[in-house]
Amino acid sequence: MLEKITAICRNFLWGGTEDYSHYRKACLGRSNKERFAVGEMGPWPLHKKQDLICAIKAIFKAGCLAPNVWTFQGKNYYKVSIGYHWLVGGTKVSWDRVIWARASIPHHAFIAWVFIHRRLPTKMRLNKFFQQNDLHCLLCNHHTEDDSHLFAVCPYAQEVWDSIIHWWPLPLRSPCLSLDDMTTPLSSFKAPKAHKQITFVVFAATIYFIWYARNQLLFRNHRITALTTVCMIKDQIRHHMLFLNTLSCKYSTHVDALLQ
Ligand SMILES: [Zn+2]
Repeated sequence: MLEKITAICRNFLWGGTEDYSHYRKACLGRSNKERFAVGEMGPWPLHKKQDLICAIKAIFKAGCLAPNVWTFQGKNYYKVSIGYHWLVGGTKVSWDRVIWARASIPHHAFIAWVFIHRRLPTKMRLNKFFQQNDLHCLLCNHHTEDDSHLFAVCPYAQEVWDSIIHWWPLPLRSPCLSLDDMTTPLSSFKAPKAHKQITFVVFAATIYFIWYARNQLLFRNHRITALTTVCMIKDQIRHHMLFLNTLSCKYSTHVDALLQ
């Protein structure tokens, strides 16, 4: 089988007497008049096909330096994880397990992920693209609304964090004034697995519900008090963790603390 593959590559790159096409032939249309080659995706402009094939040729040539020599590169097995790391370029963020915790509630994790990238459309961020008439934080009406203020410095957010930390201790820096004060201690947080999972779920839920309270006020003119926000966070986490516990009993030792 390997010899067959080598023969295909050799003929593709260097030409030969066997049936496999040389890359120059592979670039041609089916006739001189035909300017499109038909691929799986439908009509394909010929020049794009040539570019692609030339790129493939360059990749293969790295391992095939001479017509008769094929130098095998890489490892003799394949894992999806290896392909994934190659694709993303090997960079790893420190907060991935915080946001994408196994126990996380998907829509909370998504909002927390956007928040951690500093891409939530706060007034200050929107102002970079379209001038905003009012930049004030609606929750406190004192400061301009950016992500650091809305989720860390705002008295509303601080009231929510204080109540939540009193219920379930979160390893956040005190005073918590920026995104780093939240993510750095969480990323390096050491605790048993189940405890860590709940901690990350609580963090994502708090980010989600502060954003929810802000949006309710902005778009529906409906003010949700900090106390109500805390109750919503607790309720949702309790339901979610009790449900997960019925599946695996991993969280049994923490149920009492969650129900307090
Ligand atoms: Zn505020």
